[in-house]
Amino acid sequence: MLDPSNERTAWDRDYFFHPSTHMGMHARGETPTRVMAGGEGVYITDVTGRKSLDAFAGLYCVNVGYGRQKIADAIAAQAKDLAYYHAYVGHGTDASITLSKMIIDRAPAGMSKVYFGLSGSDANETNIKLIWYYNNVLGRPEKKKIISRWRGYHGSGVMTGSLTGLHLFHNAFDLPRAPILHTEAPYYFRREDRSMSEEQFSQHCADKLEEMILAEGPDTIAAFIGEPILGTGGIVPPPAGYWEKIQAVLKKYDVLLVADEVVTGFGRLGTMFGSDHYGIKPDLITIAKGLTSAYAPLSGVIVSDKVWQVLVKGSDELGAIGHGWTYAAHPLCSAAGIANLELIDELGLVENAGSTGAYFREQLTQAVGGHANVGDVRGDGMLAAVEFVDDKDDRTFFDPARKIGPQVAAALLERGVIGRAMPQGDILGFAPPLCLTREEADIVVGATEDAIRSVF
Ligand code: PLP
Repeated sequence: MLDPSNERTAWDRDYFFHPSTHMGMHARGETPTRVMAGGEGVYITDVTGRKSLDAFAGLYCVNVGYGRQKIADAIAAQAKDLAYYHAYVGHGTDASITLSKMIIDRAPAGMSKVYFGLSGSDANETNIKLIWYYNNVLGRPEKKKIISRWRGYHGSGVMTGSLTGLHLFHNAFDLPRAPILHTEAPYYFRREDRSMSEEQFSQHCADKLEEMILAEGPDTIAAFIGEPILGTGGIVPPPAGYWEKIQAVLKKYDVLLVADEVVTGFGRLGTMFGSDHYGIKPDLITIAKGLTSAYAPLSGVIVSDKVWQVLVKGSDELGAIGHGWTYAAHPLCSAAGIANLELIDELGLVENAGSTGAYFREQLTQAVGGHANVGDVRGDGMLAAVEFVDDKDDRTFFDPARKIGPQVAAALLERGVIGRAMPQGDILGFAPPLCLTREEADIVVGATEDAIRSVF
């Protein structure tokens, strides 16, 4: 932690408004700042020289690991040649054009174009606007509502904060409720009726979605957005048959599907996209994080051919699309993206996410699954979570005030490993860099076992 005698402690308290932080606790020094200074592979080091194995890859984004010279060189070379030019009215750079081709080459079938942004949040704002525009062009001005899921995470902008189905992100912000609706989370472990099989629970989720569409009127429902696997909401893989049943309902009522692949895009589940992994056929895909492994901020919306054709028709009728960011397709970020995607291929990181991810989850289950306060160990690819329960047989949960999740994450950090206390429920999440080795996975598992034992 930052040395209290260091002047940066005062600067940090006096000048820095940290995201997603308890401001009162931080001002009182109860959540001390850890100042990071360097990183190599899966390890990160702070200014005091303390090293931690980052088993959450920053915010599940540093997929290729820290300290990759190839990406640093690509950014430096681009900065020297041309640090910036905009992408408006048909402009581009070699880097932005090359990266769009690389993305479409890797994307699921039927995808046509990439619209670049800077964050997952702004990419989802773009999605919302494109969905509304699409229905206006098709002469369906009433078809505008977007269905998201409780526990979904889609950003923290005005509309995307509303799409997000986690209470923390709605708290006292007066975000617009309409035209966003939330349907049931596909959270099998927390299902009310415990007699249901996974398939039955998936059918129940699809039935709930259909009920909502019928109650609102199918002519008013424009789109459904979901992460292939719930991420920030608790790292919850979909129950068996979920995506098949959901897609059948969406097709029946002509509702667009947005796959938010900000976390799952570019290899995290052992396939290039989570949509390939779960048989999802999206109309729009949100990408960010793994696109550059966070070496530079870059996001995008991948637009399917079906949607693209309507956008073209719209332009012909209405003129240029009035939507854009100064930094869209920024050359430095695009250069980082190219080097990052090349590195993912060169190092076989998609395959490693599948194979080492499976090993990591097996070891984790064996090590902690039997603990009296561990209710569930779950995940997919290089994503894993341990959910804590007060009583395993009755499946009752702890009072959130006890902060069991944060306690375990703190105990884990003391043992040299960074995991994440997920924001809702006592859940310890893992999303290591995709280059994690089996030896490093063993270190994370050993430290987790020890941390859990120290708390309970
Ligand atoms: N969508 C998903 C699935 C995310 O996990 C996140 C961030 O964690 C976002 C969107 C928002 O991305 P950003 O924080 O870059 O705005």
